[in-house]
Amino acid sequence: MAQGTLFIVSAPSGAGKTSLVRELIESLDGLRVSVSHTTRQRRPGEVDGVNYHFVDVPGFEAMIERGEFFEYARVFDNYYGTSRPAVESMLAAGQDVILEIDWQGARQVRSQLPEAVSIFILPPSRSELEHRLASRGTDEHAVIARRMREAVKEMSHHDEYDYLVINDDFTTALRELQSLVIARRLTLPRVRERHGPLLAALLS
Ligand code: 5GP
Repeated sequence: MAQGTLFIVSAPSGAGKTSLVRELIESLDGLRVSVSHTTRQRRPGEVDGVNYHFVDVPGFEAMIERGEFFEYARVFDNYYGTSRPAVESMLAAGQDVILEIDWQGARQVRSQLPEAVSIFILPPSRSELEHRLASRGTDEHAVIARRMREAVKEMSHHDEYDYLVINDDFTTALRELQSLVIARRLTLPRVRERHGPLLAALLS
């Protein structure tokens, strides 16, 4: 069975990453998103095991001790991490897998798996990002300013990624993400893995 490809998708909060990844998964077969573990509080509407595996700090630290994370990081005072066995079994089953992780996790993944494909999603403008961050629950100036600083910090790492997608028009950004997944599936090693007998027959 051919191994799947690992895609890393990072973005500042407010860039539309989660909605884009959700649509991407629905639009292509053979593509799954890895469900991360986190110690942060569950938000209204979030479901354990669907959006995240919600765990407490001792539970998360025990997983670190047991070497169960492919990568993990502290983001905004909470732990977030990707389960190694879960990702490895999906890849071994030939599934392409998306990790929605921050720049720190992306670095750890790249160092272990240089062939992973990394994509950074950017908002179309600073004012649009401010607008999207402001409409998330609170209008308090200090809170929005802090979110903006965190977003700028995340975006400062865009140049560590293979691809940049600007989410101005949702449909266009989605098509660009689909193109990246499909293009990867058409690279010589991947086609050889999937269609070895066809190539052998054509060349005989
Ligand atoms: P949120 O709490 O808003 O869902 O996510 C906050 C940040 O944590 C986002 O930048 C998201 O990409 C990042 N994140 C989510 N899951 C993981 C993970 O498993 N590993 C790492 N390194 N970052 C993650």
